[in-house]
Amino acid sequence: MTSPISPVGAHVPVAGGLATGGLKYAAEIGAEALQVFVSNPRGWALPEGKPAEDAKLRDGGLPVYVHAPYLVNLGSPTPETLEKSLAAVRHSLTRGRAIGARGVVVHTGSAVTRTYDEAMAQIRDHVLPLLDEIPEDGPDLLLEPMAGQNNMLCAKVQDLGPFFERLDHHPKLGVCFDTCHAWAAGHDLTAPGGAKDTLDALVAAVGEGRLKLVHANDSKDACASAKDRHENIGAGQIGEPPFADLFNHPATTGVPFIIETPGRAPAPHAKDIETLKRLRDTP
Ligand SMILES: [Zn+2]
Repeated sequence: MTSPISPVGAHVPVAGGLATGGLKYAAEIGAEALQVFVSNPRGWALPEGKPAEDAKLRDGGLPVYVHAPYLVNLGSPTPETLEKSLAAVRHSLTRGRAIGARGVVVHTGSAVTRTYDEAMAQIRDHVLPLLDEIPEDGPDLLLEPMAGQNNMLCAKVQDLGPFFERLDHHPKLGVCFDTCHAWAAGHDLTAPGGAKDTLDALVAAVGEGRLKLVHANDSKDACASAKDRHENIGAGQIGEPPFADLFNHPATTGVPFIIETPGRAPAPHAKDIETLKRLRDTP
């Protein structure tokens, strides 16, 4: 199913409807893949979809991904937060299936006030049943490592190994690799061989074929800053060359690259897409 060329796309605003707004924005900026929210990313409301919009997105011809709300924390020590987080992820998975999404991206979360082992035991208890619920044709659940702030359960790509072990290497489990987060967590993508070493370590931690999506973001901050502030491609501290290295790594073959870069107007996003396509297509 995977084509050798990595589609380059964007997280798109969906004002006017998931398909009507989302596909229009994608076309304006030249996106070959898209990621959407299916609910308010900063709230817990779980809206129903519109069947006509869902069908249009499903038949839109572009790979689609869903990003779960930012508030989700499956490692939370607060029962109410855990319950709402599980409902939100379940909603994203159900809505994702309806729109033909290949994956649902979820942040790996934080232990907050608890020990790492306590949080990870909770994740096993609650996320394993969630993975089992996903139908064969449903989206994968993609774990996205974070920038390394506030007791994060997973920042370095090596931290993905224990996640996969606790979740029994479930067939519906995958990884979303965010370049800004990895950089903030201390992976020096600009060092000679840095991008290759990072993806080699990711594959060593979770096995081949588990990297399903790349979030391609430059960073406003220095490597190992633990700060998650995205920048337009080439305008930040990562710069352009590491993105070319990532495209050239066998682990990203056919894996979409999605930008989550600043700017609401199409212009900066169109430029980011153009830059990434150039880096991808230049031998
Ligand atoms: Zn991201």
